[in-house]
Amino acid sequence: MEGTQFLIRIEEEEWNRNYRPDKANPHRLLTGWTDELYEEYYKMKGRCMLHFLKHNLKEDKKYAAYFRGYAGCTFSDCPAKYTFVIREIPGKGPIKVEAM
Ligand SMILES: [Zn+2]
Repeated sequence: MEGTQFLIRIEEEEWNRNYRPDKANPHRLLTGWTDELYEEYYKMKGRCMLHFLKHNLKEDKKYAAYFRGYAGCTFSDCPAKYTFVIREIPGKGPIKVEAM
């Protein structure tokens, strides 16, 4: 998959239900977000079995991206690595996740 970029679109309600950090844990996405994002990935480009390694959220416009998440593939013969990026702080409307 190296060199391949694609866009995943998450609807606002979907984001609010399955991803948006809650007050108890404002700097992490909701538990279970990896399964949700994996499902979205799989619908579009499914080939790898993703294992999410880490993610970070920056709720500050001075950072180039609000969200970055990193994943590897669990197939032992597959070297693929993925980065998922949300540039804008999610507000109204669908959330665009760049995957590369
Ligand atoms: Zn793979």
